[in-house]
Amino acid sequence: MSLFLDQFTTTIPAMRVRFGAGVRHKVGEEMDALGLKRTLILTTPQQADTGAEFATLLGPRAAGLFPKAAMHTPTAISEEATALALQLGADCVLAIGGGSTTGLGKAIALRTDLPQIVIPTTYAGSEATGILGQTEYGRKTTITTPKVQPEVILYDAELVRTLPVAMTVTSALNAMAHATEGLYAQNRSPLTTLMAIEGLRAFRDALPRVRDNPDDLTARGETLYGAWLCGTVLGTVGMAVHHKLCHTLGGSFDLPHAETHSVILPHAVAYNEQAAAQELAPITEIFGGPTPGQALHAFAVRMQAPLALRDLGMKEGDLDRATEIALQNAYWNPRPVQSGALRQLLQAAWSGDAPRA
Ligand code: NAD
Repeated sequence: MSLFLDQFTTTIPAMRVRFGAGVRHKVGEEMDALGLKRTLILTTPQQADTGAEFATLLGPRAAGLFPKAAMHTPTAISEEATALALQLGADCVLAIGGGSTTGLGKAIALRTDLPQIVIPTTYAGSEATGILGQTEYGRKTTITTPKVQPEVILYDAELVRTLPVAMTVTSALNAMAHATEGLYAQNRSPLTTLMAIEGLRAFRDALPRVRDNPDDLTARGETLYGAWLCGTVLGTVGMAVHHKLCHTLGGSFDLPHAETHSVILPHAVAYNEQAAAQELAPITEIFGGPTPGQALHAFAVRMQAPLALRDLGMKEGDLDRATEIALQNAYWNPRPVQSGALRQLLQAAWSGDAPRA
């Protein structure tokens, strides 16, 4: 497959990345390099103990710990955390966790311009983007601005080791969805395509090893490398029907984020595989299989990922409404997004059938 494009324009986000098992111990060094003195540490309630370990590690550089990050970045929590950061005189934030915690750090940066250091513990990829999704009164809105792009990312395989296997798999498929849609993005460049292919390869090679042995730090490191690449693709190009469907199902039907990505991915790819045949060719090259959708479905089966929306709590009677909502403000997609075809896609995803060739 040729990466050559006649024309392209690309803006690659500026970020400093440090990588390696144990690299979390360099947080203080990174703060010093940026002239930062006091950080507010952010985690979810479930990861508060990890936050407390960082408070000990950082000593006087830790201004405080706010362990209340929540899924979809509710604005009330962001405002409470922002007020605390200002009250404590924090000059930066340290987010340790998945996309929810990174989202809280971004929400504080949006309100205060405080620099962000992120230590990701899932593969969601939010740390590599200038995108923030927030919820207020049950409504999710997304903004894209360099103001929320984190300054420093520390990828430490030792911290992702505790991610339970089921979440490891769905989070990896979430990351792979960014790369897959990046392959056919309208504003892709040869560099984003290279990153997408390399990210997908990293997950193909390392995820089965992590499944077999979640403590395998080398394999965990390779999956984090994949997450960085896939997240950078997400932060650089536009997403299409797959992400639109996942935002619809998460936002309006409260389906879980990473699991929904896992279920939808093979079906969204099958939807686009004729319109973007050349762009999706790397998927069958990397994963084998007769078609890109079937190749990703087979990988998901092998990884024992969830396969059906009905198993995530989606009601069959809601599929018509989901189709209607997904058609509103549709994102650009290689194949026109049509009501009947989208409804069929959702039906197949609801049942958990393999996508048809
Ligand atoms: P998450 O951050 O909500 O984490 C899920 C749960 O797993 C939490 O309880 C968390 O504490 C726990 N957890 C995380 N890492 C762990 C570890 N290593 N060990 C044990 N437990 C761990 O889940 P997520 O899938 O990473 O993020 C989802 C959120 O991120 C969604 O709100 C989504 O919209 C957002 N997101 C945003 C972007 C962006 O670019 N803005 C990109 C991807 C995801």
